Amino acid sequence: MTPFMKVGLAQIKTGENAFHFSTEQDAWLRELAERLAKTGAVIPGSIDVDLQLTKLEPDYYLRGHLKFEVDQTCARCAETFSLPILHKVELGMAHVGTAAVEGVLSEESEELDINYFEGTDLDFGPIIEEQVLLSLPYRAMCQEDCKGICQNCGADLNKGSCRCPKVNPVHAFAGLSQLKL
Ligand SMILES: [Zn+2]
Ligand SMILES: [Zn+2]
Repeated sequence: MTPFMKVGLAQIKTGENAFHFSTEQDAWLRELAERLAKTGAVIPGSIDVDLQLTKLEPDYYLRGHLKFEVDQTCARCAETFSLPILHKVELGMAHVGTAAVEGVLSEESEELDINYFEGTDLDFGPIIEEQVLLSLPYRAMCQEDCKGICQNCGADLNKGSCRCPKVNPVHAFAGLSQLKL
């Protein structure tokens, strides 16, 4: 289960409410990091979360960012490396049952993702977990122009070229152009 960090709606004042969480201070966030590590998102250092929750009856807006470094495996050369992430959070929060949810959030929120929540409190646990997962790259590379490993001899081409003959990558698909559709 996602560790929870619940804030009672009654404690949230109209206007801006600042929240700061970090793995150094917050045990629930450390638990969350352990949970994420089990799913493959290993964050060995700290996670810092800065959020501004704005209450504009009947809605809530959540803005801020998450900052951490996540261990990644390069999609090209399979080296592991640490990827710094600064993820911007921008969410509309609609309380189910407060109002007709559809069309409640004002015009400016049209581009916002909207999270729905119910009950008497707002739980930061699943929100932060989801945002961490959203921030992870689908395909990470150790450097923008990673040369990868040689398919033939397995040499790490970032450390220098190997002696294998160069294969023209276009060649592999040359037959395709001759296919009659
Ligand atoms: Zn690489
Ligand atoms: Zn090679």
